[in-house]
Amino acid sequence: MYKLKNKYLLIPLITAAISLVLLIIFNLSSGSIKDKLYLDFEKDLASHKVSQVSLTNSPNIDVKLKDGTIYKTDNPRTDTFKADLLGKGVKVSEKSLSYNRDVAPVSVLSLSIVTIIVMLIKSSNVASKSLFSVDALSTDAVEDIGFNFKNVAGNEEAKESVKDVVDFLKNPEKYNSYGARMPKGIILYGEPGTGKTLLAKAVAGEAGVPFYAMSGSDFIQVYVGVGASRVRQLFKKARAHGKAVIFIDEIDAIGKKRDSSKAGGSDERDQTLNALLTEMSGFNEKEGIIVMAATNRLDMLDSALLRPGRFDRHIEIVLPDLNARKEILSLHLKNKPVAGVNIDDLARKTSYFSGAKLENLVNEAAILACKSNSKFIENIHFDKAYSIVIAGYEKINRSNISDKDKSITAFHESGHALVSLKTLPGEKVSKVTIIPSTKGAGGYTLSIPEDKLYQNKDYIMKRIMVLLAGRAAEDIIFGKDFITTGAYNDFKESTRLVTNMVTQYGMGETLGLLNLSELSNINYNPGNDIVNECKNIINSLYNETKNVLLLNKDILDKLASELLDKETLNEADLLNIVK
Ligand code: ADP
Ligand code: ZN
Repeated sequence: MYKLKNKYLLIPLITAAISLVLLIIFNLSSGSIKDKLYLDFEKDLASHKVSQVSLTNSPNIDVKLKDGTIYKTDNPRTDTFKADLLGKGVKVSEKSLSYNRDVAPVSVLSLSIVTIIVMLIKSSNVASKSLFSVDALSTDAVEDIGFNFKNVAGNEEAKESVKDVVDFLKNPEKYNSYGARMPKGIILYGEPGTGKTLLAKAVAGEAGVPFYAMSGSDFIQVYVGVGASRVRQLFKKARAHGKAVIFIDEIDAIGKKRDSSKAGGSDERDQTLNALLTEMSGFNEKEGIIVMAATNRLDMLDSALLRPGRFDRHIEIVLPDLNARKEILSLHLKNKPVAGVNIDDLARKTSYFSGAKLENLVNEAAILACKSNSKFIENIHFDKAYSIVIAGYEKINRSNISDKDKSITAFHESGHALVSLKTLPGEKVSKVTIIPSTKGAGGYTLSIPEDKLYQNKDYIMKRIMVLLAGRAAEDIIFGKDFITTGAYNDFKESTRLVTNMVTQYGMGETLGLLNLSELSNINYNPGNDIVNECKNIINSLYNETKNVLLLNKDILDKLASELLDKETLNEADLLNIVK
């Protein structure tokens, strides 16, 4: 259904409808005006029955009798017709009789239509509207946003790196008396959801200054010049306030490295970026304005942004480690009714989770507890929430999955789990299930990678084996003609890993220690050689994987039948079967 965005649009719509209806009624009734022979008209005229005649250039004339009836008859078009009529005391008008009635509805109708068109154009064209009112942007400062460093768990280094900025915002005079120059701009970089926005807010909160936030994509509009004017507007507002933290999320939208191969580039982006740099050099260090910007990738930014006097402090916000995860979980569990939940275990299970994902996990668990009217948030809720966060919601209706499909999924997932347990004993397999998720997987195996700084070649090859194990199990059990599409995502990941090994990490033969992307400038195309090498590596790993499975075929069968039986196996179940 089309939803009316603007309720005032109803007014012209209604008037248009009414005038249209009136017009139709009038025309129907005028259509029913009778035609009479000219002879009859002459008779009426002779017997003085005619009161009025409308005489136009049209082939017909309208005649009104004294008793009120109206009819049409032929226009004789004689030069003396009007004089004759007037001489007989008949009123002559030079307009059509029905014309008068139509004037009002026709003009109302056209007026309404014009109004509707104008309103539609206005409401659909948001961009053109903001051209006139930059202030419509939500750049209003949030003062006393109620955030401080206590709201940011972990990230100790990052917090340490902005503490002097907070101090400076509190009393810039102190720093000035030492002649110290504070950074005007700080870039926070790191994966999404790691708390960059949170940290910027905390800086404003700790210093007690207003916080102005905008996203880089807000600046990039259809019309050239809008972004630049928005930047100026933002700084003007902040300056009027004195001290402030200006936060620009997704700075890469305006500050991305200019593509050297493409001449010119986007005018709009360049103008916006220039406006930002001008504004930043415009205020002096004493003012107490700090611009903080966030990006996922520091290496994507234009070097113009990173020069001294601009964004010259770069702070990395990393994914939380075990301790930080514990802190983040505790922070979000505070003031919630939890019972019997072991935060240590939970933190261990959530390696590579970002702060946002941890927050999401706690929230999902709370929702589940609430849905089941449980008094407390307990372990079962976290178990379910964990699967939801990782694999999406379980499909409710699984009655339509055939036994054959279930069996294929069971062997496929058992293959992953078995090879993981055999070749990577350091990694926990926390859950195997054949319950499909709404994300499209037929089932899945959750394994929890160890926290480590580097991945060695041996580890990557074993990861590839685990990925290939799903297909290998199908191959062994059902035969090579009955392999399925279920391994699609596995192969995408294994292909990514193997090409990275050969082209990026210096672990292959074709390129040796060379990095492929750095070779793009010289005229060398090793494409096919690389594909061949990757294929060979994968093939031999695939055979090795099949061997592991064949050697442990009895365990594979046992795992699959248990899975078919219980649908989901947890870590303890698995270890019990594999021993
Ligand atoms: P980013 O800006 O890096 O994408 P956000 O700052 O928007 O991430 O974080 C999103 C949410 O995730 C926060 O509102 C908070 O609830 C949670 N979060 C992320 N990192 C942390 C952290 N270090 N401590 C507490 N909560 C965090
Ligand atoms: Zn798989």
